[in-house]
Amino acid sequence: MSIQIPRGTQDILPGEVEKWQFIEQKAKDICKRYLYKEIRTPVFEHTELFQRSVGDTTDIVQKEMYTFEDRGSRSLTLRPEGTAAVVRSYAENKMYGQTVQPVKLYYLGPMFRYERPQAGRYRQFVQFGVEAIGSDDPAIDAEVISLAMELYRELGLKKLRLVLNSLGDSASRKAHRDALIAHFKPRIGEFCEDCRHRLETNPLRILDCKRDREHELMSSAPSILDYLNDESRDYFDKVKKYLEDMEIEYVVDPTLVRGLDYYNHTAFEIMSDAEGFGAITTLCGGGRYNGLVQDVGGPDQPGIGFALSIERLISALEAEGVLPPHEESIDCYIIALGEKAMDYAVPLLQEIRREGLSAEKDYMGRKMKAQFKAAERMNAKHALIIGEDELEKGKAAVKDLQTGDQEIVPLENIVDFLIRGK
Ligand code: ATP
Ligand code: MG
Repeated sequence: MSIQIPRGTQDILPGEVEKWQFIEQKAKDICKRYLYKEIRTPVFEHTELFQRSVGDTTDIVQKEMYTFEDRGSRSLTLRPEGTAAVVRSYAENKMYGQTVQPVKLYYLGPMFRYERPQAGRYRQFVQFGVEAIGSDDPAIDAEVISLAMELYRELGLKKLRLVLNSLGDSASRKAHRDALIAHFKPRIGEFCEDCRHRLETNPLRILDCKRDREHELMSSAPSILDYLNDESRDYFDKVKKYLEDMEIEYVVDPTLVRGLDYYNHTAFEIMSDAEGFGAITTLCGGGRYNGLVQDVGGPDQPGIGFALSIERLISALEAEGVLPPHEESIDCYIIALGEKAMDYAVPLLQEIRREGLSAEKDYMGRKMKAQFKAAERMNAKHALIIGEDELEKGKAAVKDLQTGDQEIVPLENIVDFLIRGK
């Protein structure tokens, strides 16, 4: 039996990969303008990093990690998300001591989660994310959100919904937590096993439960917004004001809590309302994580970031029909006839490519007609025709495949001629 690709993963083939490159380039371009620098961390980390940062009680850590023991009996985990490693690296490389602050970073790479595969949910998927560490200015929250929104906007998405919430500081969260426990405790028996466990460990996450979503106690649950202290409320108001000043529309949803433990203050998600996008509508999620740097052993530095997956972004672009069509052409195809011309074509091809042009020749022993067909199929701008005769006279025919015009050009001028006609 032939071996097949693992469940929940995909091959991205030529023809499809250009979409990825296009989006990745856009993401990199926007980071350049917003001054976020790329960071590349390992694909695996010590398991403990995710237990400590993502949180022991989260779905990711409890159910979704690819954890293995290496030959030296260390427990390692394929990264399920990017923030933990970035923060680890920030602390380990003492980036808090750098002269430029806050430290603004982005990453782009594969993440791994053992999930039930379905549309928009893979076991290996690619996340683009940014982190701004070292500032608790609400303007940086607004900047991070605006970067994600700008990327989507520039790619042509229109049916976007930015959902915003504040989880408050630790005092606000504590007050809210107590209220949640009082609210759910008397009837916790009606909830799923996970929720019963969450009541003890992290009651906020009951609000994020996918199974008990419809329970009547959910909609009547105490809202975090009623428990924000003055400081937290001011902070949230400023974030909202900056977004308004930038004309970024949002809706506040006090039930937005996000899947990871480390969030406080600003939490946000960007959803797609495009028809046909499917049941999973979240394109991007992020928030503030003051305290996380300290949790992984660094100094007490605040941070905020987001992550989005390229898979869901492509689905949204397809649902809105805004992906530009991919058209490929090459500058030159060498049509060589006879052995001598074939040999001559090898270094000529090299020279043309060295000058920055894309060029190809025949490697399949095709006859002239078939070589012309190949040139057309590759959408070549020019065909360079070299036969034995031409070669002896030191000339070649250059045919413009768009207009059909043909010119005889001395071999030594061929490359110049092609560059001019590019
Ligand atoms: P969900 O509620 O959909 O499971 P999440 O809360 O687990 O999302 P995050 O950990 O916040 O997601 O990841 C940020 C973004 O990464 C998501 O908004 C989504 O676009 C994307 N993402 C998460 N899991 C997957 C996956 N398994 N396959 C593809 N994209 C994913
Ligand atoms: Mg998830």
